Amino acid sequence: MWFKGGEAGRCWVGRLPFRGDLLLSIEDFARRENIRAARVEVIGAVERAVVAFYDQQAREYITLKFEESLEILSCIGNLSMREGKPRAHMHITFGSREEQLKGGHLREGTVVFAGEFFVQEIIGPELVREHDEDTGLPLWNKY
Ligand code: ZN
Repeated sequence: MWFKGGEAGRCWVGRLPFRGDLLLSIEDFARRENIRAARVEVIGAVERAVVAFYDQQAREYITLKFEESLEILSCIGNLSMREGKPRAHMHITFGSREEQLKGGHLREGTVVFAGEFFVQEIIGPELVREHDEDTGLPLWNKY
């Protein structure tokens, strides 16, 4: 285990664009505001969704596509740096008309119907994602 301390920085609330890409909209926003580390929350609804499930044995993501309108019950995550750009890592839970929960690791291709976001900047720690040998994932490096 390791951790870094920081302080709460700037804070934003806003609406995501109708039919915009959920993940890319958050990353565009982060680039515009020059955010290097933050926590992110989104609620709303999507027209369709693409998420992933990480197969720990195979060390690869399995893509799941939901071609239906869904409620975003919870979408939480963070912004940190990867290859010199702010990248969003978000996990999302959807509610469906059939009363089923769906979700996973948010991918590009999730189309916003309506979305309200909250972003809280974290000042201090430099959070950089790099390849992690143990998991095969791009995780935060401790330096
Ligand atoms: Zn993830």
